[in-house]
Amino acid sequence: MHDILVIGAGIAGLTVALKAAESGKSVLLLTKGASPDGSTNYAQGGIASVTSQEDSFESHIADTLEAGDGLCKKRQVEILTKNAPKAIEQLLKWGVNFTTSKNDEKAFDLHLEGGHSFRRILHTADLTGKEIMRALLAELKHHSQGIDFIEHSTVLDLITQKSRCVGAIVASRGRHVGLPQISKTVVLATGGAGQLWLHSTNPPDACGEGISIAYRVGAALQDLEFMQFHPTSLYAPQLKKTFLISEALRGFGGILKNHKGEEFMNDVHPLRSLAPRDIVARAILSEMQRTGKNYMYLDVTHRKAKDIKTHFPNIYAKCLECKIDIAKDWIPIVPAAHYMCGGVLVDSFSRTTIEGLYACGEIAATGVHGANRLASNSLLESVVFALRACEDINKNLASGKWLVTSGRQVKLNNFNCQKLKKQVQTIMWEYCGIVRSIEGLKTGLKKLKELENSSFASYEFRNFVQSARLIVESTLKRKESRGLQCLTDYPQKNSRYLKHFTLVKDI
Ligand SMILES: Cc1cc2nc3c(=O)[nH]c(=O)nc-3n(C[C@H](O)[C@H](O)[C@H](O)COP(=O)(O)OP(=O)(O)OC[C@H]3O[C@@H](n4cnc5c(N)ncnc54)[C@H](O)[C@@H]3O)c2cc1C
Repeated sequence: MHDILVIGAGIAGLTVALKAAESGKSVLLLTKGASPDGSTNYAQGGIASVTSQEDSFESHIADTLEAGDGLCKKRQVEILTKNAPKAIEQLLKWGVNFTTSKNDEKAFDLHLEGGHSFRRILHTADLTGKEIMRALLAELKHHSQGIDFIEHSTVLDLITQKSRCVGAIVASRGRHVGLPQISKTVVLATGGAGQLWLHSTNPPDACGEGISIAYRVGAALQDLEFMQFHPTSLYAPQLKKTFLISEALRGFGGILKNHKGEEFMNDVHPLRSLAPRDIVARAILSEMQRTGKNYMYLDVTHRKAKDIKTHFPNIYAKCLECKIDIAKDWIPIVPAAHYMCGGVLVDSFSRTTIEGLYACGEIAATGVHGANRLASNSLLESVVFALRACEDINKNLASGKWLVTSGRQVKLNNFNCQKLKKQVQTIMWEYCGIVRSIEGLKTGLKKLKELENSSFASYEFRNFVQSARLIVESTLKRKESRGLQCLTDYPQKNSRYLKHFTLVKDI
């Protein structure tokens, strides 16, 4: 039995595992695929933190609250922003190399992103997530005694004993049964849910299973209606996986254009192409509908080719693979499901409403994002609140003497649920996408329930469709348009809805 079972090895899970191992705890760390498999590895833009003289916590707080459209939990935002420098320091200690300024090697090269009043985005060129994963996985090797790291292990269910979470049922590759893993504490760090939608920037493992897994043991879920759609994923039908065109490219001067070259953001928002993501995503969708095109463009050709290649080597190379030279050609872009602001409700120490169960990273609803996430606040949230979870676990780790040492086994089958998943993704895209209507949501919900009830063919699919259904149920509760929730029936904000909607299963 381990002290801590960490489910997921992205930035959040790895931070918990490393910090816990440093303080002598034994950790079992699981990941669904071969590491690095989560969204962290794909993060391009960077991580926000106040590090420069002219910037201030007050400004970072104000920008976060502004993006959150009235629904951020202010205390949590204060914790996030004020602990950011500490989180960065921790990442540096674990060997993350952020790009430094050309003029001063001791200072970071700070990027500006939409919604931020100052340059405060630390980055490693445009491969920040990859560098973070490299460093944390390298650090993991120093803890082979304290951390058992097992890849290809999917958690299907959590195990509770007298309303306390005491482990999980795990399906490992090549096994025909899911086996119980018992531990004193469980940390859910399963990442986001982008794959529930047809078009997504997220990697294949980001299926939002953490939502249904936690829900079934009675953990409260919150703010699931706030799914962020990234305005600019590369439109390249030949690619198997969507590729993100980072927000930083708009910060770098990128201009959104329609097929005639018209700068359609000019009439939409005073910040034009640098307007907040949700506004840009909707404007692109609306321009696509108005003009009958499948995509719009982002233009950076007015910037020097040398600067583009230096700041965005990864984006430059990927686009070139698709025969687009971004120094000369406009980049075809389309919005895609990107980031889940809500999730499993946690407090300021990442404790869920179930004893013994913590949630960190994208799966957690800390309340820092409110109705919309400010760019580059999510890697930060993952580290800050993972460190706080460790603080709490260190203080309160139960002896575990009372724990069961066995649990039920689950028989697995090899059912291929790809077709069913595609049906769910299509329903989510059509009825719970960037712009929603009550009628559409109700239709989507009905279709999802039919799929959920008709097919318990595999645990994997049950978790997939149930998470989608819970998101739609949450979305239906908010009868207003605010932040990322855009409802045609209720196009205005309504102060009666200045609250968070929570879903809890009766058990
Ligand atoms: C393309 C892209 C670019 C982004 N750019 C930025 C950026 O510049 N700045 C920023 O702040 N944020 C960015 N984000 C968001 C940010 O990357 C994520 O919010 C963050 O990395 C989430 O970290 P995590 O540890 O919670 O999850 P992840 O990194 O997604 O890791 C989740 C882990 O959980 C595992 N897992 C999932 N389900 C199970 C299961 N059932 N059983 C076992 N294991 C499971 C997965 O295998 C994986 O190991 C970006 C996201 C994407 C997709």
